[in-house]
Amino acid sequence: MVKADGYGLGMEDVVRALASEDPWGFGVATVEEGIRLRGAGVSDAVIIFSPVPPGSYDAAVAHDLTLTISDLDSLDRVTAAAERTGHVGRFHVEIDTGMGRSGFDWRRVAEWGPGLADRASPTSIWEGCYTHFHSADLADDGPTRAQWEDFNAALERLKPEKGIFIHACNAAAALRSPAFAADGVRPGIFLYGGGIGTGVAPPEEVARVRARVTLIRDVPEGTTLGYGATYRSSGNERWATLGIGYGDGFPRVLGNRGSVLLAGQRLPIIGRISMDMTVVDITGVDGVQVGDAATLIGTDGNGVITLDEVAELAGTISYEILTGFTTRMPRIWITE
Ligand SMILES: *Cc1c(COP(=O)(O)O)cnc(C)c1O
Repeated sequence: MVKADGYGLGMEDVVRALASEDPWGFGVATVEEGIRLRGAGVSDAVIIFSPVPPGSYDAAVAHDLTLTISDLDSLDRVTAAAERTGHVGRFHVEIDTGMGRSGFDWRRVAEWGPGLADRASPTSIWEGCYTHFHSADLADDGPTRAQWEDFNAALERLKPEKGIFIHACNAAAALRSPAFAADGVRPGIFLYGGGIGTGVAPPEEVARVRARVTLIRDVPEGTTLGYGATYRSSGNERWATLGIGYGDGFPRVLGNRGSVLLAGQRLPIIGRISMDMTVVDITGVDGVQVGDAATLIGTDGNGVITLDEVAELAGTISYEILTGFTTRMPRIWITE
């Protein structure tokens, strides 16, 4: 899964980094993302895992992107786009087993199954069937098992042709419930360094977020800091200003809460985070110089601030932290 610009890391670079794994194909969310992959030279299958607007089908089919369908009208659009563009339309059928946002209802195969079979044609090829788990990261695999069973009950009734590609697992399910791997899995977050719940091995660090010290100030007692003056020095203090803020996607909610690694220490973020600047308290810390790089996510020496730790402190999930970094943050790929 390389949607949302490769979970914020840069889709083309992610595809390049994954090449040695020889993935079966790539998953995206929009037609535009699929076209970008084609532009980057990807010739593998590209599946668009969200419903797309009616006006986007021609472009999808013309770029040989595989659509996912949740209703019969969408299938008619695939067929019409295939006829208009002269390309073969390809689709996977999503079966909703509890995620609710998209897919055909697994309980109502009798209503939509026959229409699906009637409509399949040489110009629009039914290539796969899948469902999506809502709770695969839980320690209790009960909900995932129940969804898997419902999915299979629907497949039983649907009787798709042999050779159709069956898939269900996101990263959490692929690693926690490998019995449901079927013909392929759709890993996302774990590839990008996000955890998949407790009780399994944590991911390796993938992305590190760093910002340079752009200014150091010695301030007397009573100096206020940031919007709302929510922080006030309680004595003589030394502050380091970092060139990063919420305009880069670093969560503003971490003001007066988060910390950074700098000069071999974990140091607190003080005051509210601005759009372009974040201030840390370096009082009593030797050796910090303007130009030094602070680590906001990742390892530095023996210290580590994990992506999941930052997400939790910010009241969100690793996915939102990663995809939240804006284009102002350069993505620098380190190849060994
Ligand atoms: C995003 C997505 C995935 C990947 O999920 P992760 O939790 O990141 O592994 C898999 N399948 C579908 C349909 C998705 O939308």
